[in-house]
This record gives sequence, structure tokens and C-alpha cells, in this order.
Amino acid sequence: MSDKNFEINDVVEMKKAHPCGENRWKIIRMGMDIRIKCQGCNHSVMLPRKEFSRKLKKIIEKGEQ
Ligand SMILES: [Zn+2]
Repeated sequence: MSDKNFEINDVVEMKKAHPCGENRWKIIRMGMDIRIKCQGCNHSVMLPRKEFSRKLKKIIEKGEQ
């Protein structure tokens, strides 16, 4: 999938699931770093943009802008 035009509020799937078993993450902040929140346990993780796009598998759902 080449669609990596992620934006804030999108729900994405990463290459590796969160240890809680969930693999849906919502993008809650974008900048130099991307902050995503696990939709299973609400844990949030900050990743450098480059690392995020490397670990991103696909966009599940587009958020409202
Ligand atoms: Zn989780």
C-alpha cells in the first residue's frame, strides 16, 4: 500500500501490534514527531516522523480534519 498520506485523527495499523493486543492507533499529534494513541489501552507513544512512516502498515480510517 503506497498511501502513506497520514493526517491527524487517522486510525492506523502498525507493523507490530501493541503488547496489549490491539493494533489500531489514532494519530493525536503531528509535528517533527508523531504521537499515536493505542485504541485498546489508551497508551500513547511518540515516534520520530521517519520511524513512524517506516513502522506504519496502513491507514484504517481517515479522521475528520
Ligand atoms: Zn495498547
